[in-house]
Formats: sequence, C-alpha cells, structure tokens
Amino acid sequence: MTTERLTKLSSWLEEKEIDVAFLTSSENVFYLSGFLSDPHERLLGIGVFPDAEPFLICPGMEKEDAKKTGWPYEIIGYDDTVNPWEMVRTAILSRSANVHKTAVEKEHLNVERYEQLQKMLPNSTYVSVEERLRELRLVKDSHEVEKLREACALADYAIEVGVHEIKEGKTEMEILAAIEYALKKKGVLEMSFSTMVLTGKNAASPHGTPGNTRIQKGDFVLFDLGVVVDGYCSDITRTVAYHDISSEQEKIYQTVLNAQLEALKTVRPGVACSTVDLAARNVISDAGYGEFFPHRLGHGLGISVHEYPSITEKNSLVLKEGNVFTIEPGIYVPELAGVRIEDDLIVTSTGCEILTKYPKELQIIK
Ligand code: MN
Ligand code: MN
Repeated sequence: MTTERLTKLSSWLEEKEIDVAFLTSSENVFYLSGFLSDPHERLLGIGVFPDAEPFLICPGMEKEDAKKTGWPYEIIGYDDTVNPWEMVRTAILSRSANVHKTAVEKEHLNVERYEQLQKMLPNSTYVSVEERLRELRLVKDSHEVEKLREACALADYAIEVGVHEIKEGKTEMEILAAIEYALKKKGVLEMSFSTMVLTGKNAASPHGTPGNTRIQKGDFVLFDLGVVVDGYCSDITRTVAYHDISSEQEKIYQTVLNAQLEALKTVRPGVACSTVDLAARNVISDAGYGEFFPHRLGHGLGISVHEYPSITEKNSLVLKEGNVFTIEPGIYVPELAGVRIEDDLIVTSTGCEILTKYPKELQIIK
C-alpha cells in the first residue's frame, strides 16, 4: 500500500531531478509510511529518494510502534540528548552524496527546521513537495475508503445520539458531551475537529461556538462533527427542528436540502468542481438566499479533514473516480436561522456513493 505511494513519489523526484524529499508533517509521514504519530515538538520525518531506499526518523520511544506498522526500510530512533538533524544528515548523504535540490513541505516546515536543513545541505535549493502529495492523496485507495466508511458510520451514530438527546432546556454543551461520551464508549479516540452543537441564533453563524445556550421550541439544532478512524476523518452536518418552526425556517431548510440534492446529482468523473458548486449555489440564489451562503460547497477529506479537492465555483479541477469530498450547502440568516446539510461522498465510475447515511428530510423533534 505505502510501497506504491513511495514509488510514485520516487518517480516524480527522478522526473524533476530532485535528490531527496524530506517531509515532516504527521499527515504526509503517515501517508507515505503507514506510521501515525504526533511527536509534538520532536522531529518526525521521512526521507524519500529517486533511486535509494527511504528512511524514517522518529523519537526513539516510538521506534517499536513504527516497526509494528510493517515499514520495511530503515527506522532511525533518537533520544532526547542528541541532535536528530545530525542523523538526518548522515542518512541523506549516505544515499545521495551530492544534494543540489531538496523537496520539502514549504507550507509546513518552520524556519528553524529550514535553517537546520540548509546547514546540513549547503549546496541545495529547495522546492515544494506539497502539490505532488496533494495530487497523490486526491485519489483514495481501497484501504482508505474502508477507513472512511467506518469513520462515516460513526459520524452517523453520533448524529443519532445527538438528536436523541434533544430536550427543552438542555444546553448545547450538554448534548455535545453526551455525543462524545457515547463515542468514547465505542472506542473513538478523537474527533476530526471540535464538535459543534448550535441552536437558535448560534446556528445562524457558519462557524459558531457551542456554549450554554438552551434549546427552545421553534429552534433549529445544528450538529457538525466528525470522527477519526485509524487516521481518517469524517465530517457530517445535520440540522433538525425542535417543535414547530416558522414557514420561513421551513423554506430555508427545503432550499438547503434541494441545493444539496441537486449538487449530488452532478457528481461523476469528468465533471468540474465548479459545476458541482454552482448546482447548489444556483438553487440557493434562485430562492433569494444567495448572500446567505458565504462559503464554498465542500472540501476533500481523508487524513486531513480539509484537503483536495476544493469544491468552489471557480475550481476547474475535474473529478476522478476515488475522489472523496463533502457537499455542504448552508443558509445563515442572522437572528433568524442557520441550516447546513453535509454529507461525505466518494466519486464512483458512474456517479457517487454517499458515505454518511443519516436521513436528511426535515425532522421535527417534539
Ligand atoms: Mn466540512
Ligand atoms: Mn462539517
């Protein structure tokens, strides 16, 4: 699985005449090695070469865990009393004596680490490896899809728990705590991002913060959450009504739902991201709410909760089988209502398969 990814990166390095790629983000190290680790301030890295074996460097106390992933190449463990960069230098120069061009994660590598690399490889120029990694991660393999399916099934369960917890006078945080407690009991270690339970006016902000607001009759309750399974993230949003809502609130809900369904219909290989975004955007604009839909329609997800492709009205990138992304139109009218409906899907050979399955028809909880 990771062998194929490493081979693809090695051929790219060869093609671009790059001597070494040194990557230090947990996400890309995981993608290329299968080793999932958050080393905090310590150095975690992977060196990949056009025609030599890669190496992994990690804190010594994690070396055994790294071995257990089945990584068949060198693993360099270091303890807290040594300078790991010396070991990186030795590992690189033993594989490539003259380094003129190094690929790094320019968006991730901090200045201190960049200076360390420059000291080690004084004759090298630096290019970005990120675009290539994004391209590779854009198409999910069967192992990744399996993990995403599990993460989405748990996200569905989380919404079910949340909806079941809705009662008059309960606070957003009380419901949020019940959701996360239920997930912990299922063995979930972490959420994809901070869980959102928003009600009433709070739901009218696309990125609201949950607090001690209590649920009242006539409110929408918006849930936005995701679950991480073996390094893969899901992301779902559902909005339900508590007791009867106004006809305008209902119109807003139906508009968001129609927009979501129209966008889903357009998804298949060969279609541009912009077409998908506009399918939803047009439904919302036609209903008169265009100015209240202030964000892109969706985003790719996988090891990161936001990755490629970006589903915007300007993105001409064409969809391919194996792309995984969200479709999440929303309408947020200040002081009145906020509704968003978000699903995760995978592009298939003929269309798409929706991975999050919790029902979307307007639910009125009494
Ligand atoms: Mn999302
Ligand atoms: Mn979300």
